[in-house]
Amino acid sequence: MELKGIFDSHCHYDSTPFDADRDSLLDEMLSEGSSVCGLMHASTDISSMRFGLEYANRYESFYTSVGFHPECMDNLPEDPKGELENIFRTGDKIKAIGEVGLDYHYEGYDRDRQIALLRIQIELAQEHSLPLIFHMREATADFMALMHEYKPNGVVHCFSGSPEIARELLGLGLYLGFGGVLTFKNSRKVKASFAVAPLDRFLFETDCPYLAPEPYRGSRCDSRMIENIALCAAEIKGVPAQQLIDMARENTKALFGL
Ligand SMILES: [Zn+2]
Repeated sequence: MELKGIFDSHCHYDSTPFDADRDSLLDEMLSEGSSVCGLMHASTDISSMRFGLEYANRYESFYTSVGFHPECMDNLPEDPKGELENIFRTGDKIKAIGEVGLDYHYEGYDRDRQIALLRIQIELAQEHSLPLIFHMREATADFMALMHEYKPNGVVHCFSGSPEIARELLGLGLYLGFGGVLTFKNSRKVKASFAVAPLDRFLFETDCPYLAPEPYRGSRCDSRMIENIALCAAEIKGVPAQQLIDMARENTKALFGL
């Protein structure tokens, strides 16, 4: 049985692992009869925003976000807000600001600068009534403080926090994104968090080319593998995998206004 109607709410097809076959892969995945029906490109820097816009023009069901990832702090333009304002004028397929957030995993990315950049981007999203795609790693306390302050509309992608944090974010009206990590043997906390997410509040994603689900763990990921994520999710929720794929797609469309 092949599952249908997969919407990947977070992908990076501009990454180098796709250099050899990017266009043929996307042609195949976004053609009629494929299990995939839509993609949301997550931007990280200026060149990735350009990629997103180019491919959103090329494929009807390819949508894009624009934003500066905290890991790209070193390559920021002088006026990130003005840069994003300019890019907004270039396409009506821009459906979110992302991926933006806080990442305290690596030393060297100044925390105050990360917070300042995130504030700018949340405020911009709220001015333009756009949802946000959040990246949060090892920065829970500062991130939660900002969520309580702004109460933004958006998704916390690749959610890996505890069920308590999940409930807090859901209570603020945010969506939670779940991907390949859900299928990993050692991901008890993520499974517990998925279990508390209501059916109208979760999205499926790959974050491809990274984080391929079991049984493909370690290899290059693509959006079709959401099938394997949904099969694992079905066991946790006791809901058929196809129904979860359908719910996740409708949630993604509702969040991004598609
Ligand atoms: Zn990502």
